[in-house]
Amino acid sequence: MEQNGTQIRQRVVLVVAPFQGHITPILQIGSILHAKGFSITIAHAEFNPPHSSNHPEFVFVPLSTNLSDYDIPSTFLSTMNVNCKEPLKTYVVQTLEKQEPRDRVCCIIYDSMMYFAEAVAADLKIPSILYHNSSASYVLARHATPRLHKQGYIPVQESMSNELVPELHPLRFKDLPFRQISETLLKLIANGNNVRSSAAVICNTNDFLEHSQLSQLQEECQVPIFSIGPLHKMAPASLTTSLLKEDTSCLAWLDNQAPKSVIYVSLGSVATVDKKEITETAWGLANSGQPFLWILRPGMVLNSEDASDKWLDLLPEGFEERVRERGLIVEWAPQKEVLSHSAVGGFFSHAGWNSALESLSEGVPMICRPCFADHHVNARHITHVWKVGLEMDLVLEREGIERAIRRVMLEKEGEEMRQRAIDMKQKIITCVQKGGSADNSLNDLVELISSKSNAKNDTATLIES
Ligand code: UDP
Repeated sequence: MEQNGTQIRQRVVLVVAPFQGHITPILQIGSILHAKGFSITIAHAEFNPPHSSNHPEFVFVPLSTNLSDYDIPSTFLSTMNVNCKEPLKTYVVQTLEKQEPRDRVCCIIYDSMMYFAEAVAADLKIPSILYHNSSASYVLARHATPRLHKQGYIPVQESMSNELVPELHPLRFKDLPFRQISETLLKLIANGNNVRSSAAVICNTNDFLEHSQLSQLQEECQVPIFSIGPLHKMAPASLTTSLLKEDTSCLAWLDNQAPKSVIYVSLGSVATVDKKEITETAWGLANSGQPFLWILRPGMVLNSEDASDKWLDLLPEGFEERVRERGLIVEWAPQKEVLSHSAVGGFFSHAGWNSALESLSEGVPMICRPCFADHHVNARHITHVWKVGLEMDLVLEREGIERAIRRVMLEKEGEEMRQRAIDMKQKIITCVQKGGSADNSLNDLVELISSKSNAKNDTATLIES
């Protein structure tokens, strides 16, 4: 950004939600915008903070939540949205007052879960942009929730589970993110959906993956939508965003496996399972005969006596002797590197949006075991739109798991899924390359932020007066 021969760095504040799956893409947006000439502030809840030392080029601002219990999602989210407002406002005001005029906050980009940031931006007359950390299809499903509730479709009746939802093709009622609803949840959904005074919307997707959904979303929103994704393919590959320590030893283990032979198993950073599921998954993997890399995150098993239970204590007797060198279990892996490794031939996944994008970008077919939130919507697209995976039955048993692994890793239908996934990988590369739809969308976003930031002079006058 040049003005009268001087380099001007305008500051963008990114407000991130306190979860791994939200922190990663926001840091990616930060890196991308930094490379385009903006200074970056990451405002985050003090709970689950990103590792600031990995990003010396960013300013990190912890926002005090005044919360002691983060276990009740609806209460915690609404309270966080009340309590974080003043700390964010204080930071932005101080920045506007103290910093070089050339480094003023010109825009606030906020995760839809952190909707309080829009109010701060509106109060200070700073442009804001809403970021949806999900597919456009999920945003549409969330938008439709109040309507479906009003029409009596939610709570979803068991008898309707397999029926298609009107106007949300190809979702069935059982794929809806909210099959039960409460007043609190309806309020949270309305808050997350509401664009309010924001100047634009960013989605981590692209025109190739979700053309019709993006058009539909554009009809529903009054502001421009920028589909800039997959973000991890546009940000520097060296960017580290992990909250947990990555166990890189699995990469050396993968080096010793045959091409496309390994099934990678991970349910992301939040989902929990019971001990029975661990047992069934263990035997499904053992009986499949395939090499596997399995992520057992500390605390992911429900009702284990100790949240820090080590995976060794959770595995069924006889399992280790049975699989020996054929399997590797680690607590947390460098997932993007794992998925791009030539030994990995399939991904048994909860179908979180980041995981789905990371798998699609490497041409790896998936076995979906959706748990909650957007997982069912993503799984439906993976299996029925892009046709690069299959979905597990609700009741997970070893025979079903073994069968699914064989279908994807060894059988003709799996080979066809892989071929489609590889084709998608190529199309995704085209989207993010110079001149591709995601790259164009990014340039449009940069232009919009730069043009809006002219209004910052008015803001400065407001603060200074
Ligand atoms: N992830 C990782 N190592 C692991 C498991 C997961 O780095 O061992 C990362 C993964 O690459 C993805 C994120 O954690 O970027 C999970 O996000 P996703 O949206 O898939 O699911 P969530 O954790 O939000 O449910």
